[in-house]
Amino acid sequence: MPFNLGKYTELNSFLKTKNVTLVAVSKFQPLEEIQKAYNAGIRDFGENYAQELCSKFPALPDDIRWHFIGHLQTNKVKYIAPFVYLIQSVDSANLLKEINKQAKKAGRIIKCLLQLHIAEETSKTGFNEDEILKINYADYPNIEICGMMGMATFTGNEEILKNEFSKLRETFLKAKPQFPQMQILSMGMTDDYKTAISQGSTMVRVGSLLFGRRS
Ligand SMILES: *Cc1c(COP(=O)(O)O)cnc(C)c1O
Repeated sequence: MPFNLGKYTELNSFLKTKNVTLVAVSKFQPLEEIQKAYNAGIRDFGENYAQELCSKFPALPDDIRWHFIGHLQTNKVKYIAPFVYLIQSVDSANLLKEINKQAKKAGRIIKCLLQLHIAEETSKTGFNEDEILKINYADYPNIEICGMMGMATFTGNEEILKNEFSKLRETFLKAKPQFPQMQILSMGMTDDYKTAISQGSTMVRVGSLLFGRRS
């Protein structure tokens, strides 16, 4: 699954016109392909598995900003806490608590996004809106909540996608007063990033378009 420079160049110029940040999703990609993407100018990479991330981190340039985007088990937080740039997939108060604890141990303030459950599929994780509005930010001094993330239903139905993304943006706007540093709205992947951007996305997480379909 080789890194596709042509696709990247095209995507990058589109995202620039929209002022949207690209996170290249590099799960299951070998180091050489990630290095090629880095050489093309990408600095933000997203990984889904703590173990995979921990093995890639020391082998690649240290100015890479590593985003964690998969479901994170509390017992894995300690492995990524020393170096992770942004944990996008925070989906429970328990996880917030553990990230805060490990961030403190590492002498860091860790940036996080709150994941909202917006899809129809129950397999996708995330907070619901009420849970987000109930978070007491002061309980987590070593966490900076920078925004929200969501994954839409796996569907080609434009209306469903639009509704889910706009729901995410609505909750983002509601929660904003509670989290003064909130500005990132991470939504959109290979198949739905254009719809996500039309609904206010400021960050997309794109894998297959750049690296080819994962096997
Ligand atoms: C795998 C993954 C992506 C990227 O998906 P593509 O369809 O390959 O662009 C984005 N976000 C999350 C949370 C993922 O797990």
